[in-house]
Amino acid sequence: MRSVPARAVEEKVRDLCIDINYHMPRDMLQAFERARETEVSPPGREVLTQLLANARTAASEGLPYCQDTGTAVVYIRQGEEVRVEGRLEEAVHRGVSAGTREGFLRGSIVRDPLRRQNTGDNTPPVLHVEREPGDKFHIAVMAKGSGAENMSQLRMLTPADGPDGIRRFVLQVVREAGPNACPPVTIGLGIGSTFDTVAWLAKKALFRPLGRRNPDPYYADLEVALLRDINRLGIGPMGFGGKNTALDLRIETAPCHIAALPVAVNLECHAHRVREAEL
Ligand code: SF4
Repeated sequence: MRSVPARAVEEKVRDLCIDINYHMPRDMLQAFERARETEVSPPGREVLTQLLANARTAASEGLPYCQDTGTAVVYIRQGEEVRVEGRLEEAVHRGVSAGTREGFLRGSIVRDPLRRQNTGDNTPPVLHVEREPGDKFHIAVMAKGSGAENMSQLRMLTPADGPDGIRRFVLQVVREAGPNACPPVTIGLGIGSTFDTVAWLAKKALFRPLGRRNPDPYYADLEVALLRDINRLGIGPMGFGGKNTALDLRIETAPCHIAALPVAVNLECHAHRVREAEL
């Protein structure tokens, strides 16, 4: 059994919180560049140029890419042959707090959803832990901006709705979101499981690297087809028109009840900040 000290988890979470807010991931920068090359709308192209310049400035000046430094969503995959010395949840909490303070990130979390008192250090984070075979310990941190999160939707479709119903729902969500989701968006699509878990499937899809297709060819084809249809909506970068409304769409699925077809669409803005490390 391999041991990972809670202190190492805390430090890694802190570093990742700062890093993702200052440094836009390389795959996103490449996607912006590809989009700029193909964009037909002049204002849309200009937006992409500004996003690239913004990312460069953030990295060189040590500033957050966006003022909304997001909800910290931490996704840990812990091998069954690894144990954490100390309390995992507290370590993640302390890591987010330290990253927010030391990185001068905005505290964006309120303690109570109606009484709205800011916790000041972006805690508590949202934590997901999954066990897997082996002795690896992966930590991924996402800074999830709320503009796109607010435009996300979940619907309990029926099995008879099938792929056509999913397509109609996804296009409706992206159309309704328009510029409010800060496009070009990335879309996490969860299909299956239950009402409570399908939203996590959608979020989990956003943790996959950009362009990494679902390993099942049926769903990989559906990802490509939905992405093509979304980019025909004409919303474009920041809603200024054009053919780059979405940079990617990724699907995660799970078994579900014979009478159900839960579907969740988790929208992610152009500030798609996620990074993974191994301890
Ligand atoms: S939705 Fe994304 S790009 Fe828009 S303000 Fe929030 S973090 Fe920034």
